Amino acid sequence: MRNIWNPWHGCRKCSEGCQNCYMFFLDRLHEKDGGEIYRVKSAFRYPLSKDKEGRYKVPSGSTLHVCLTSDFFLEDADAWRGEAWEIIRQRPDVMFFLLTKRPQRVRQSLPPDWNGGWENVMLNVSVENQRRADERVPILLSLPFKHKGIMCAPLIGAVSLRTYLDSGRIEQVICDGENYPGARPCRYEWVESLRGECVRADVTFLFGGTGWRFVKDGRLYKIEKPGQAHEQARRSGLSYEGRSAVYNLAGTQASFPATLFNVEDDDEA
Ligand code: SF4
Repeated sequence: MRNIWNPWHGCRKCSEGCQNCYMFFLDRLHEKDGGEIYRVKSAFRYPLSKDKEGRYKVPSGSTLHVCLTSDFFLEDADAWRGEAWEIIRQRPDVMFFLLTKRPQRVRQSLPPDWNGGWENVMLNVSVENQRRADERVPILLSLPFKHKGIMCAPLIGAVSLRTYLDSGRIEQVICDGENYPGARPCRYEWVESLRGECVRADVTFLFGGTGWRFVKDGRLYKIEKPGQAHEQARRSGLSYEGRSAVYNLAGTQASFPATLFNVEDDDEA
């Protein structure tokens, strides 16, 4: 099973974290333009697809990472989002992991019967530096979602989340460096500091990757082999399992972090 659902593809750069967006890079390799935004017909109904035996291809209790080659709240996708919400509504047994750099567009983009939020949706904002954290995380905290998280990726500056973690409403923080050509360095002390804040607040912290350029003890490391950035991060031992969050998914019970940390591809939004 693939744990990524890309109902549309393509995006518009909206902040400094988008500078080296991997989707634009990979599209260029295939002589495509990442700025061309389109509905992915073959994947749009993936969460509802079934095998020959009539079973869902995405089993109950799974997590689907949504729009990793776009942004779920992109303005250009307004016409398609209603249908996507309808699909999400039909799989109350699956967790949908939404990631956005556009939290200011979320409230106006929710379905009419959203109320306090659906149990099977987790909203994450991605923040690359302190400026974007202070811009996006307060909006995240104000939004009606049952589950919320922060993705510090690509981490290109020191970020403190301390006051936001103290709210008790952030379930997890994921941190990653920048990959692909042009990658800007991520520094060990930034990651260590974020981890320390998460430990203090007992919030789960995942150090998912060092990125292609990582600075530790004043030395710049180039980490470009496939899987190496992830492996170095894993070996660092900086990830931390904080208080668990239980998701009452229909017909199952999934607890974080076991299900939400298994991303097959790079996360960007
Ligand atoms: S996919 Fe994400 S990183 Fe890429 S341009 Fe869109 S918002 Fe920016």
